[in-house]
Amino acid sequence: MDMKRIRRLSHSHTSPDPLKGEFEGEALPFSHHGKKNGSQISIPVFVLLICVVGITLFVVTSGVHRSESIVTIATAGGGGGGEAKRVSLSRFRNGPINKDRTVGGLLATSGFDDLSCLSRYRTAFYRKNIPHKPSRYLIQKLRAHESLQKRCGPGTNSYRKAVEQLRSGQRSNFDQDCNYLVWISYSGLGNRILTVASAFLYSLLTNRVLLIDRGKDMEDLFCEPFPETSWLLPLDFPLTNTLANFSITSPESYGNMIKNKVGVHKGNFIYLHLDHGYNDNDKLFFCEEDQKTIQNARWLMLRSDIYFVPSLFLNSLFKDELNQLFPERDAVFHHLGRYLFHPTNPVWGLITRYYDSYLAKADEIVGIQVRVFEIDPGPFRHVLDQIISCTQNEGLLPQIVEHEIGPPATKPKSKAVLFTSLNMGYYEHIRSMYWESPTSTGEIVSVYQPSYEGYQQSERNKHNRKAWAEMYLLSLTDKLVTSGWSTFGYVAQGLGGLKPWIMFRPENRTVPNPPCRRDMSMEPCFHSPPFYDCQKKKGIDTGKLVPHVRHCDDITWGIKLVDEDTS
Ligand code: GDP
Repeated sequence: MDMKRIRRLSHSHTSPDPLKGEFEGEALPFSHHGKKNGSQISIPVFVLLICVVGITLFVVTSGVHRSESIVTIATAGGGGGGEAKRVSLSRFRNGPINKDRTVGGLLATSGFDDLSCLSRYRTAFYRKNIPHKPSRYLIQKLRAHESLQKRCGPGTNSYRKAVEQLRSGQRSNFDQDCNYLVWISYSGLGNRILTVASAFLYSLLTNRVLLIDRGKDMEDLFCEPFPETSWLLPLDFPLTNTLANFSITSPESYGNMIKNKVGVHKGNFIYLHLDHGYNDNDKLFFCEEDQKTIQNARWLMLRSDIYFVPSLFLNSLFKDELNQLFPERDAVFHHLGRYLFHPTNPVWGLITRYYDSYLAKADEIVGIQVRVFEIDPGPFRHVLDQIISCTQNEGLLPQIVEHEIGPPATKPKSKAVLFTSLNMGYYEHIRSMYWESPTSTGEIVSVYQPSYEGYQQSERNKHNRKAWAEMYLLSLTDKLVTSGWSTFGYVAQGLGGLKPWIMFRPENRTVPNPPCRRDMSMEPCFHSPPFYDCQKKKGIDTGKLVPHVRHCDDITWGIKLVDEDTS
């Protein structure tokens, strides 16, 4: 008999110990049955029966335990030595186990030390099977890019020579294939994640090695994404101390090189200033002819706080390639984010302990990300009202009623609400609301919030670990409500493959009408795109050129990718 199938039918979710909870559930009907018929069974026969059934259950459970809570994960490199390791997993919320540890082929299967980054191959067990599969072409391109990173990355002869050239400023044509893009660490964590993804896509399109300035804590937050090499910019990189000083006024910026008519050749580097406050010359980065010029430089340094991917889709040099890489246009960050961003072990611990303790048992998890762009810390009445009207109008959370209703005929559905906010006021109010009053549907609503840090403290490692863990936890929810304008929410929705309900930014401290709306895509919004027609050299509305790049709902002048078929 297929015991696993029977148990799945009788339980909609599992408990923190997948084995224990399930067997407790099964043992109950059997013992009732024994009691009911107890008068007809003599005691020795009954004891014998219990023993036989007990042994049978033990044998079956051992098998089940093996198949459900221990998964074989091939390890390679470092400590793994390429062996297959059996790893126990604590939580499978999503029914049949999602065994796709490579996330649809996105992740390489070898070249990593499994234990040094537990999240990499275990994320699938916490996620629903999501319908967005990476294209075969994207997978091929990623494998080719991994070879490039390994061949030209830190520690190789090619890297050493490229650095020598950067130091000397001389032109030389050795190893034409090894060109580099250095991402400069800057801004809040959500912005950083979105700009690393944008930089990586640009590296893929232009065959450049992506190197990450580790800043204060990039190394502490993210595992290495490329096998058998490092994406961290070596500490002895000649411009290490200069990176943080690049700005719109730097003579090496592409905008200023254009203004000052400075030629570009292999020996010099270009600083790409793609910050939200960039000027029209900097924005020429998005034009075809300028791209051809920029590609002459072996080294590019990028400082950005914007998700500039949508504008790459409008560039005729890249658009065909992009359409092949991402047939589903609104899954770009979804795939790149899952490929690149693996929480380090300390962050993974924060995620899994929280998930297992508070969220795993719920029938449904609703995430609510509250980001308030006010100088005062709050909490604000209008924000609370907005959260309540959004979640109740949209049927995400039940209304409350005054009087207790009778006991439900069937087991009530349980909802776990995961709040994230710098402030604890909203969470406290809603938690009390669902404690003090019954719900109209009889649903049980439990409300949680992992941290309330008070204010943004981007320089503190522990603070950023929590922020990263919370973005990730939000991405594991079933339904997500986010605050408009916030890159923190964009990261969660993209990683989770979730089209969020987006709460509009309030003006004059009043609740917007409507308070929220279902977003048209899970892609992040590019907040400050160029509005320029490079061919005609005049202004143009770049949110109206093609059906898959449209204006965002939360920032009307921003643009985002949408999948025309599903939006
Ligand atoms: P954005 O400013 O909303 O676009 O998001 P960013 O992530 O770029 O910057 C906001 C920063 O404030 C985060 O990175 C955190 O450091 C902090 N922060 C904002 N909201 C939260 C929250 O809900 N939880 C935690 N832990 N930190 C937050």
